[in-house]
Amino acid sequence: MTRPRTPDRRNPDGTTTITMKRACNGCGNYLGDATSYELDRAVAGLPLPDVIHECPTCTPPVVTVDLAAVRADLAATTETPGARYTQEQVDAAQAAIGRILDKHTPALVAEVAQLRADDATARALDEKADAEQAELGQTIRQLYAENQRLNCLLYDLTRTITAAYNRMTIDTRDWTANRSDAWLYGALIGWTDDALADVAARHRWTPQTVEYLRERHAAVRAVMPAREETDGSEDGEPG
Ligand SMILES: [Zn+2]
Repeated sequence: MTRPRTPDRRNPDGTTTITMKRACNGCGNYLGDATSYELDRAVAGLPLPDVIHECPTCTPPVVTVDLAAVRADLAATTETPGARYTQEQVDAAQAAIGRILDKHTPALVAEVAQLRADDATARALDEKADAEQAELGQTIRQLYAENQRLNCLLYDLTRTITAAYNRMTIDTRDWTANRSDAWLYGALIGWTDDALADVAARHRWTPQTVEYLRERHAAVRAVMPAREETDGSEDGEPG
């Protein structure tokens, strides 16, 4: 079906009348006026009929040359010279057809070869993409498994740290008195800034020691579950 393409019309009163156009459901190009059937369906909110077969972009005209049929016709004509044509006419026609075939056959052969090559390239790219996707999937599964393993390790480690933390918080000794106690407390429970300055002075810790202790405590804080509210002050002064 070739659709009319009605242009927009300017009315005497200054308004414009347009005729709805039908777009291809394959590529979206306008094909011409919509039919009343299509308009009815559009108004009713129903799907429109498929028009891909109308679209010169989606359905380009197929031109085929049946070379075998051409040759058979030619042979049949040549076998009965004089029936309708002279031998010269047949020779001239044969030569002309030969020239046409000579001219177009290489291009057709080249086009077919190019299509085959494109197809092979597309297949190779598809296979490569499939392989890459499979490899990526494998890598993701490995990373996931490794992540699971590390999570288990971290969980166990966190339980150990939590147990040590809990033991220290119920121990009522003076955690500032002993140098090692003070360090352990600072690492697991953490001193406030003021308390840390005091214990550092008391045990003659270097700034490097203090900084290292802060880093160790930050690491503990990073893996510890949220502290219970009964814990009191943020970094817990010893009782
Ligand atoms: Zn189309």
